[in-house]
Amino acid sequence: MSWVLFGGLGYEKRLWEVLGKPSLKVVGTEYILSTESFIPAPWADGVFAEYLTHNYAGLVAESEGIIHLSNSLFSCYVAMDMALLYHKPAWIFLPGRSWRLLFLSEGEGGCIGCTEPYFPPKPAMVWEEFSLGWFDLLATFWKNPPTSSTLWEKEGEMKILPRREDCPLHGEEHPYATGKHQLVVAVSCGENSVAITPSFERAIDLSGYLEEIKPFVRLRKSNVFFVEMEYEKFSCLVFRQGRFIVKGTKEKNTALYLYRQLVGV
Ligand SMILES: [Zn+2]
Repeated sequence: MSWVLFGGLGYEKRLWEVLGKPSLKVVGTEYILSTESFIPAPWADGVFAEYLTHNYAGLVAESEGIIHLSNSLFSCYVAMDMALLYHKPAWIFLPGRSWRLLFLSEGEGGCIGCTEPYFPPKPAMVWEEFSLGWFDLLATFWKNPPTSSTLWEKEGEMKILPRREDCPLHGEEHPYATGKHQLVVAVSCGENSVAITPSFERAIDLSGYLEEIKPFVRLRKSNVFFVEMEYEKFSCLVFRQGRFIVKGTKEKNTALYLYRQLVGV
């Protein structure tokens, strides 16, 4: 059986080497905006050129376990929920103001959802860059993982995660693995555009958002309902309910890439 790697941030081959070249199926790799495609991974035992969605639950069911490295916190919750649904171990790098590493045990302990209900984060481009030092930490524990779910806040500082009975991921429902919570992506038939609508609540304080994103984009228009901006060759609209429209592409992964980078999810 293979492990599945979701994402990789461009470090996917390096990670595979650090872990001693295990059999690995890769979903997503790193997305290159200029070519609107994922980095190829010819060394992997299977490659799926798409961002993680609940549709990959079957792949997890047949796997050894999960490794997750991406700048989407939502994607981390999808991966954790899948691991819990199929009783698989998972190594999850958690993005944020600073990176953290979670080992999710298939048996003992809790998950991040036990103590931190999902909350939409800031745009990924304002976050700290991933540091390769985390790979050394993972390599140290890869062959001998902890017996209970463990969180490393910093390299070298570990704590056991307790389980909470009312955790949505530890319940029967598995809202992330079954698609109850998902990003609905719609490619326009007529226009050259893609729309993303979260199925969950994702309110954005547009005035605060504007201040944060201003240094990174060319602003076109803003009012109490939406912000319109340009980034690279794309034109983007962010609405206060979390809806997002990209003009200039029909590629859904481009829209998801920009949603992660410019809005945060
Ligand atoms: Zn939990």
